[in-house]
Amino acid sequence: MPVIDLRSDTVTQPTAGMREAMLRAPVGDDVYGEDPTVIRLQAYLAQQLGFAQGLFVPSGTMSNLLGLMAHCERGDEYIVGQEAHTYKYEGGGAAVLGSIQPQPLQVEADGSLDLARVAAAIKPDDFHFARTRLLALENTMQSKVLPLSYLAEARKLTKAHGLQLHLDGARLYNAAVKQGVAPREITQYFDSVSVCLSKGLGAPIGSVLLGSEQLIGKARRLRKMVGGGMRQAGILAAAGLYALEHQVERLADDHANAAALASGLLELGYSVEPVQTNMVYVQMAERAPALKAFLAERGITISASERLRLVTHLDVSRADIEQVIEAFKAFAG
Ligand SMILES: *Cc1c(COP(=O)(O)O)cnc(C)c1O
Repeated sequence: MPVIDLRSDTVTQPTAGMREAMLRAPVGDDVYGEDPTVIRLQAYLAQQLGFAQGLFVPSGTMSNLLGLMAHCERGDEYIVGQEAHTYKYEGGGAAVLGSIQPQPLQVEADGSLDLARVAAAIKPDDFHFARTRLLALENTMQSKVLPLSYLAEARKLTKAHGLQLHLDGARLYNAAVKQGVAPREITQYFDSVSVCLSKGLGAPIGSVLLGSEQLIGKARRLRKMVGGGMRQAGILAAAGLYALEHQVERLADDHANAAALASGLLELGYSVEPVQTNMVYVQMAERAPALKAFLAERGITISASERLRLVTHLDVSRADIEQVIEAFKAFAG
């Protein structure tokens, strides 16, 4: 029985064209800076997103960590959302490995941080306090898209206070496709951006950190330190390049599938949050484990959270969505 896996957009299989591109990729030793395909990927993203340089790394967690550590010294502080990936889902890496103090703030319903609260959290230059150095935003934030006008305001605020601005853009392309803008319209406001190739874009491995020559130089040294220097990494970079060249526009299909799933479940009486991009959140409360078991018998894989997250991606078709809605209907009885 083929499985419909809705747990995450990280579960995708490399497409046939992507595997072909990986097979053909010219490679070299990237620690020596000699892998032509890694160089091409880094240059492609730097050019597209408007940065001087890019750095290919194994994961989004490492990309964010290197970004934070390149911006902040020991004893510095960064302001971040309480639910943000860099704060909550990366093992506390910035604090553990970078000696960077996080200042978490509540995330608003639209996925943003209230900029008045951000301003109030910036610490004065006083030896009692950690030095506030950076604001980190996430876009999409749990599938919500931050408005461009908000990003412009965040830029203005950080500039006024001499802070750096980092974007965890794991799903940057979902935001750009949803807004119908070039991704650079989003990234223009930031000093550094982390992009995941292994989420909705569908590559098996890899993220890229973008920034100035100085920032990326520092990040490259840190990458070696944490064991992220890879050798013939062009095989992986080729998958990322293929994704960027062929699998960006199709993110609109994932968004349409998520919207169709949400409206189908809403019609069945489920409590569904409004959908913006590729995630559908359903309140299942204590019924979550029973639903997970019920769907598993029908070839549908979900996680068992009370606020259930269903994620669409390139291995979920419209026919699959219809099948999922039918299964939810049967569960509701
Ligand atoms: C997945 C994810 C990351 C980290 O990516 P990994 O490659 O899994 O380490 C960072 N930020 C966000 C918002 C993510 O969804």
